[in-house]
Amino acid sequence: MDHPTDTGAPSLAAELSAPTVTRAYQCQCGRPVFLGNSECLACHTPLGYVIESLGVVPLAPATAPAAAAAADGAPPMDALPLYTVFGDPQGKQYHRCANFVTEAGCNWMVPAPREGDDPNFTTQGLAPGYCLSCSATRTIPDLSLPGNGELWRKLEQSKRRLMSQLLALGLPVVTRHADPVHGLAFDFLSNMPGGPHVLTGHEEGVITLNAEEAEDAVRERIRAEMREPYRTLVGHFRHEIGHYYWDLLVFPTPWVDDFRNLFGDERQDYATALRTHYEQGPPADWAVRFVTSYASSHPWEDWAETWAHYLHMADTADTAMSFGVDATRVELASDLFEPADLWQPDHPGALKFLDFLNGWVRLTNVLNELSRSMGQPDYYPFVLPRAAVGKLQFVHQVITQQREQQAPAMAPAAPEAQVDTAPAPAPEPELEVSQAQQQQQQQQPGCEPMGQQFQEQRYVPGGLGGG
Ligand SMILES: [Zn+2]
Ligand SMILES: [Zn+2]
Ligand SMILES: [Zn+2]
Repeated sequence: MDHPTDTGAPSLAAELSAPTVTRAYQCQCGRPVFLGNSECLACHTPLGYVIESLGVVPLAPATAPAAAAAADGAPPMDALPLYTVFGDPQGKQYHRCANFVTEAGCNWMVPAPREGDDPNFTTQGLAPGYCLSCSATRTIPDLSLPGNGELWRKLEQSKRRLMSQLLALGLPVVTRHADPVHGLAFDFLSNMPGGPHVLTGHEEGVITLNAEEAEDAVRERIRAEMREPYRTLVGHFRHEIGHYYWDLLVFPTPWVDDFRNLFGDERQDYATALRTHYEQGPPADWAVRFVTSYASSHPWEDWAETWAHYLHMADTADTAMSFGVDATRVELASDLFEPADLWQPDHPGALKFLDFLNGWVRLTNVLNELSRSMGQPDYYPFVLPRAAVGKLQFVHQVITQQREQQAPAMAPAAPEAQVDTAPAPAPEPELEVSQAQQQQQQQQPGCEPMGQQFQEQRYVPGGLGGG
């Protein structure tokens, strides 16, 4: 809205500045379409998520047949209908992800590279026939059991939202197929009768989620038991991927010194710290020092919670900006942040980041009022303490630096050179079994005894030790 205001407040657009990526998509007929759509409801044009466009785009059947075999040696996909982006008949060709027709309901497109295409336009690092997001899934719940298909669908839906944001932020998204040692793999596991409780967590690129978290009633019960203000699937994904990027972007880099200054020394014993957290509760002053009470349990968890919070903020701000939401006239229930609240107030990007934070405060005040109008819980049930602002700026700078380094190559699944062993060119045999065939659970790496990194004990209803 362009109404002149008399409050003197800057517009939200000015504060939040241009979105990293648009979340408002359009069909070729002009109708708005959304992240999960695969067909325009108005004109029935097929739609799909295309990484090269970082969004959902209208598609047209490809007129020219693809070359018999892809240049990179992937199996020929002759049998699959091919598409180009609508209005670009000579452009890159795609086919639908193999999970388009499964319960996962995937609307992402898979490259169908031809001779002469950009070498970054490749299926390398992907499970044959699957998109980047689905290729990162290693284990799914047993689909022969009733209800599991629906849980899987919700998990994949949230994961695609995560993945699309990571790509938009310019973060490396490398599957286990591209890097069998440190690449990303998701295991969606169910509790088995007589087996250990599946703990959500991260270890060496493997993110384990207990599939019951996709069941609304279960997740809400755990949320209430744990006295958390907020618990969602996308929140779990954003938290766990934070541990992954800590391993990748912070620990092996000079950032680690600043990390320890801001978040504390992560070398303190993790298992002891978590046990103390569950037995004694968070420190009394946690709310002025941390973004959530769980963040106070250990510097790793502080990082993962702060990282997740940053992704929440960035995605919501992108969405608000994409749809032209403004909040200039909002009366603020809380004070705005000041340069002194930042970690590095003299950094060249500091004031822009401060604007973003204050735009965020304004936006969430509006969103909370909207939620209250409907009698719903607050949209944003957090109060951002000043101490968390510096940590958020740190996350922002880590991500910004990564994006600037990666800027020209937004290629998905290009093997990253962050491990000292060269990435294997071909997937390991055991990983060639795509998740759709792998319908029974495998022994999960995330279920070992306590003491291992990043097993989120908080996900065990009732906590640890009964104390
Ligand atoms: Zn349409
Ligand atoms: Zn897919
Ligand atoms: Zn964690």
